[in-house]
Amino acid sequence: MVTTSLPLIENHSPAHICPYDQACSYLEWAAKELKLDQGIVEILSHPRKVVTVSIPIRMDSGEVRVFAGHRVQHSDILGPYKGGIRYHEAVTLREVSALAMLMTWKCALLGIPYGGGKGGIPIDPKEFSVGELERISRRYISELIKDIGPSVDIPAPDMGTSAREMAWMMDTYSVNVGHSVPGVVTGKPLSIGGSLGREMATGRGVMIIVREAIADHGKSLVGVRVAIQGFGNVGGAAAELLHQQGAKIIAVSSASGGIFAENGLDISAVKAYAAANHRSVVGFPQGTPISNADLLTLPCDVLIPAALENQITAENVHQIKAQFVAEAANGPVTLEANRVLEAQGVTVLPDILANAGGVVVSYLEWVQGLSYLFWDEERVNREMEHLMVQAYRKVIHESQARGVNLRLAAYTLGVGRVAQALNDRGLYP
Ligand code: GLU
Repeated sequence: MVTTSLPLIENHSPAHICPYDQACSYLEWAAKELKLDQGIVEILSHPRKVVTVSIPIRMDSGEVRVFAGHRVQHSDILGPYKGGIRYHEAVTLREVSALAMLMTWKCALLGIPYGGGKGGIPIDPKEFSVGELERISRRYISELIKDIGPSVDIPAPDMGTSAREMAWMMDTYSVNVGHSVPGVVTGKPLSIGGSLGREMATGRGVMIIVREAIADHGKSLVGVRVAIQGFGNVGGAAAELLHQQGAKIIAVSSASGGIFAENGLDISAVKAYAAANHRSVVGFPQGTPISNADLLTLPCDVLIPAALENQITAENVHQIKAQFVAEAANGPVTLEANRVLEAQGVTVLPDILANAGGVVVSYLEWVQGLSYLFWDEERVNREMEHLMVQAYRKVIHESQARGVNLRLAAYTLGVGRVAQALNDRGLYP
């Protein structure tokens, strides 16, 4: 096991937007607005702990391969580290570190008692058998056994992982410590202490935040034209729930391409098609093919990037024609692009607010587990909606009070809460 600081592990090409530098720029932006002490900014600019483990696996072919697995624990000032585990070929330690920092601000903004963490393995899960994925997941978590736990660090699903991986991880942790520990992960299957409503939670949160923002502009979701990049757990659920509320979903996409229909797509039919087609929407008969890049520039009311980071950049931002951009993915709009959108009068609903529904229901799952009392889905959705709407209102209020955009308002609330706690706890020794 290697526990090290970031700069020792990876160099990044200056030509690319470094996600960690970008996350630090957001922190500095908020710190400046809050007039924070430089020492606090210095502390918060560094993850508290960075762990990279080797995951040696016997493949189905008999060959042995070794993968890298990261877990970055950014801050536990407000509670246990919390955040997903991503399986994606583009995972890097810097990306995971940036995402861990975002989790700290997200949990603080939502008022849930967690810090921020994130994990990742740079693999494309589609290239592995179920057995191989199980061995990778189990070995990864067993290597991290001393670093996680229900009051230490609580992983959850993220891109490329789901309830299935969480069950393997919970089982591995439990077998190693000698008793069942459901609270070590969230996003579990219902059979082992998962929560109703968790699977759709991130998409539901996106729908709620979009609905509130549209209502503040005097409109309802009925007839609102929405384009969604990504049709996975988040984009797919957001599409379904927005469609149910009367919105017209004019385009959706998967990694290899998208589909467009001027009069709106039949989302249940797209869902059924993707389920039978390796989770891809490409080739859906009642739509015109569209590339992921072109989807972003479609004329629409609401654009929802629900895939990877850095999708709206200085290069394409001038072509964006939406009135609202809801960041269902983490970091899909770069800082520079955000400034341009703002100048164009586009409302950007920032990731740490718009996609917080997942971690909110993770929190509700953890609370239900710790109290041995499970709620019906209606109660889960109600409690989640309450926390989301409350956070949205706070962000709007902060934005008006400070005269800043919604992203900076969300950051000043999140960063401000962590900084206050850091100040109150003081520095040891
Ligand atoms: N991966 C999700 C996120 O980025 C959920 C994290 C969690 O539930 O802990 O917010």
